[in-house]
Amino acid sequence: MAQPISRREFLKRSASAVAAGTAAASGLATTVQAASGAKRVGMVIDLTLCDGCNECSLACQRKNGHPINPNPQGLTPENYLYVQSVSIDTPSGTQEVHIPRKCMHCDDPACAGLCPFSINTKTPEGPVVINEDYCLGGQKCKAVCPWGIPQLKKGVGFYKKLEPLPFGAGVMYKCDGCIDLVRAGEAPACVTACPQGAIKFGSQEAMRAYAHERAAAISGYVYGDQEAGGTSTYYVSAVPFAAIDAALAVQGEQPRMPVNAENVLHGVNGMAQALLIAPVAGIFAAGFAAHKKLTKGDEANE
Ligand code: SF4
Ligand code: SF4
Ligand code: SF4
Repeated sequence: MAQPISRREFLKRSASAVAAGTAAASGLATTVQAASGAKRVGMVIDLTLCDGCNECSLACQRKNGHPINPNPQGLTPENYLYVQSVSIDTPSGTQEVHIPRKCMHCDDPACAGLCPFSINTKTPEGPVVINEDYCLGGQKCKAVCPWGIPQLKKGVGFYKKLEPLPFGAGVMYKCDGCIDLVRAGEAPACVTACPQGAIKFGSQEAMRAYAHERAAAISGYVYGDQEAGGTSTYYVSAVPFAAIDAALAVQGEQPRMPVNAENVLHGVNGMAQALLIAPVAGIFAAGFAAHKKLTKGDEANE
């Protein structure tokens, strides 16, 4: 177990690790690439097969030990998968489309790249994971996510140990891609639970290829390959995603589904944003880099 840290110790260690923190805050210490050689995984969510039954959401709630909510109204800290439903007018009539929404597990995730505390990382397997033990709930990840995926739970988490210092507000939660199951060689809970086989799971390359093959076969569309500079979640639809996004907008639904959603890390604005948070966040990040390193030492000495 990691040992708790005192406020005094936190500040002391912060000062000694400013350089590391500044690098993290400026977006330089961004994602962990697939250095271990682990196979990257991905998903295809086939909207032509999804009937909106919500079993995937329930399976996710069960898997994560959340209170069971059969009718979630959006993404929350206790609901990582939300199934949206829209009606789209097409030349062949009105079509109901159901859209399971969750973290896209971006290839170069802005949420991880701009996390001031460097505790949100891209794993070698592909899922982007927030370390809930250290997250301070600063919400930067939500602000820079093209879909606003991470959700804040207030009043919980590590920041409570630092009170009354103004370090955070709670913990950010989102889909972790069932990283524990993936590492055990199993499919995520939502995949296994879907009675329609609407969520496919496999290597990222195989899933990307399958999404495009499937879209070509139905003269349809793929979402998630280009968006945010690339993700490991590929939606396939028979109706254009621009029409889906427009319908979501009319219904006031979140998350939206903008075609060609941008990644703030890939533009001038994104870098400006990174620099903007660096002066303050660098101090915080430094403290956490030091804390994580030193508590690791504690573990090793136990
Ligand atoms: S979808 Fe949002 S929360 Fe998920 S990895 Fe991409 S930027 Fe991060
Ligand atoms: S991959 Fe796991 S955590 Fe993510 S939505 Fe599916 S069941 Fe939930
Ligand atoms: S379980 Fe399958 S069919 Fe049901 S809502 Fe989820 S993806 Fe759609």
